Amino acid sequence: MQLEQNLIDAIERIEKARISVDRHRIIKLVAVSKYSSSEEIKALYQCGQRAFGENKVQDLQTKSISLDSLPLEWHFIGTLQTNKINALLKIKPFMLQSLHSLELAQELQKRLQKENLSLNTLLQVNSAKEESKSGFAPEVAYESYLKIKEECPNIKLCGLMSIGAHTQDLKVIQKSFECTRNIYEKLQKEGAQILSMGMSSDFTLAIECGSNLVRLGSTLFK
Ligand SMILES: *Cc1c(COP(=O)(O)O)cnc(C)c1O
Repeated sequence: MQLEQNLIDAIERIEKARISVDRHRIIKLVAVSKYSSSEEIKALYQCGQRAFGENKVQDLQTKSISLDSLPLEWHFIGTLQTNKINALLKIKPFMLQSLHSLELAQELQKRLQKENLSLNTLLQVNSAKEESKSGFAPEVAYESYLKIKEECPNIKLCGLMSIGAHTQDLKVIQKSFECTRNIYEKLQKEGAQILSMGMSSDFTLAIECGSNLVRLGSTLFK
């Protein structure tokens, strides 16, 4: 079956990259299902995949409801608008990977506190400083992480997420990953454990740069 073969191939490539740099690191694979149907998600689940990522609240809602009977772990990876916070919290996702601003953190904290909930999150770093991307500028990411950790007790910060630079130039992509990795290394002393970097086109490089969570869409669901 095609999906199963895609998953096997992806895991093989993850393993190869991992073993070449760090035999002791455990790398998590989140299957990004944003262009895929509930049937395809179910098929990949039956191949052993548990964690899935969506970038639109509406899609996450529809798919998580239709697949409610499966023990899936949902990651939200898109830019979250404040008017969608309530809808997202209702779904009770496993993790919000894309906490992109202090305003969003404060708004989230308010709603979480009110509902007496907590939420696993990653701070999104715009390491390539691209206008089209959300996230904290690398210069302020460290202080912002500590500030949110201190001021937003219902937000459980677990680490960082970043999207590699949008270019074919591997050196530039590598620089953007290393930038996030350097911030992550400082934050490990503050309890950060997850460094989410790498998509279909650049995940082996991301692993070489320290990633321990890759988000793969097109290479799995092709
Ligand atoms: C779409 C998306 C991915 C997966 O991208 P592919 O290139 O299809 O692997 C990963 N992370 C984020 C934030 C995305 O929006």
